[in-house]
Amino acid sequence: MSSKSYKSLDPKRSLGQNFLSDPWWIQRIVNAFGLEPQDTVLEIGPGKGVLTNELLKTCGRLIAVEIDDRMVEYLGERFAGSTNLELVHQDFLKYPLSEVLAGQPVRVIGNLPYHITSSIIGRVLDEIRACQADSGAHARITSFDIMIQKEVGDRICSTHGTKVYGVLSVLAYMLCDVRILLDVPPNAFYPRPKVTSSILRFRPLPAPRYQITDWELFRKVVRAAFNQRRKMLRNSLLPLADLLPEGFLSQTGLDWLERRPEQLSPLEFTQLANLVVEARG
Ligand code: SAM
Repeated sequence: MSSKSYKSLDPKRSLGQNFLSDPWWIQRIVNAFGLEPQDTVLEIGPGKGVLTNELLKTCGRLIAVEIDDRMVEYLGERFAGSTNLELVHQDFLKYPLSEVLAGQPVRVIGNLPYHITSSIIGRVLDEIRACQADSGAHARITSFDIMIQKEVGDRICSTHGTKVYGVLSVLAYMLCDVRILLDVPPNAFYPRPKVTSSILRFRPLPAPRYQITDWELFRKVVRAAFNQRRKMLRNSLLPLADLLPEGFLSQTGLDWLERRPEQLSPLEFTQLANLVVEARG
C-alpha cells in the first residue's frame, strides 16, 4: 500500500481486529492446519494477510472474505500476482456459501473477530447441517479450524453437567467431532488481547450423531432451554407452546421437563425433541 500511510491500517476494535504478529506463532498455527495442495480453503477475516500469505503457499484455491474495505484494498495490492486467491469484500455472515460452493469440499479457517464468534460458528454449523441433509446443494465443509477465545473454546468442548455447557456445546457435538488443536498466548497478537486464545478443529460428521426426526424443532428446544438456563425445561419451553402438543409441558412423569438444560445430554435433548414430534402424530 505504497500511497497510504501505515496508520490507515490501524486496528479497529469494532471489527475485532487483533492481528497475529509473531512469525513463530504464525508458522505454528499454519502447521497445525496441515493444508494439502488440493485443498480449497475459505478464510474468514484475512485482515492484513499474515495467515493468507502462508495459506496461499500450500492450498490450491483460497477464498478470503473480509468486511473491512481498508484491508481489502491492501490485500488486493499485496497479493496482486496470486492466481489462486479470490478476495471477497463482504460480511461473512452474508456470504452465500451454498451458492458459491454447492457440492464442493472446502476447509473453512479463520482467526475470528471475537465479537461475532458465536454467530459465525452458528452460521457454519447451519451449513454443515444443511449439507448433511442435501450434500449436492450445499458447501461440503470437511473441516472448520478457528482461533477463538480459549474460554469460548472450552465452553464449546464442555459436556453436560458443567456450568459452561450451552447451545453451541450441544449443536457442535451433534454435528461434528470437536477438539482443541493448540492454545495461543496474548503476545502472539497486536494489539494484545487480555486473554489466551485456542484453535479449535470441527470435523463434520456425515449425519447428526443421533437420529433426529425434526432438526429445526430440536434446535429450537435447545435454544429455548438455554435461554433461561436457571429454569426447569417445563418453564423454559413455554415460549415454544405453539409448537408442542397440547398439554405436553403440564404432563407429569417426564423427567426431562423437571431438569435444567445443563443436566440434559445431547442424547436426552434428542429424545425429548423426537418425543414432541411423536406426540404431535
Ligand atoms: N486473519 C488476520 C490475522 O490473523 O491477523 C486478522 C484476524 S482479526 C482477529 C479478524 C478479522 O476479521 C479482521 O480482519 C476483521 O476486519 C475481519 N472481520 C470482522 N468482522 C467480519 C465479518 N463480519 N466478515 C468478514 N470479516 C470480518
